[in-house]
Amino acid sequence: MRLHEERVRVGVKDAVVSRLRRVGCTDDEVCAVCQETGRGGGGRVLLPCGHKFCEGCVVPWLRENKTCPSCRWEFPDRDVEVKGRGRAA
Ligand SMILES: [Zn+2]
Ligand SMILES: [Zn+2]
Repeated sequence: MRLHEERVRVGVKDAVVSRLRRVGCTDDEVCAVCQETGRGGGGRVLLPCGHKFCEGCVVPWLRENKTCPSCRWEFPDRDVEVKGRGRAA
């Protein structure tokens, strides 16, 4: 069953990206991609390595890369179960 894997892009699957946790951010947290802090009030995406980035920065990045822009933590090739998806509260 490798037929469909030949031209798979290198980035992270949308399904995986969409399961990443969205968190708020504080004023002194700087996104490593755009160097902006949380002034704008936008949410951040929390990667499994613990780093946070603007959704608008990290989502395009993860389409092309499967590493954390900050620490180069790499998403596993297999579909990952992101921790903390949480039970319905
Ligand atoms: Zn950013
Ligand atoms: Zn990281």
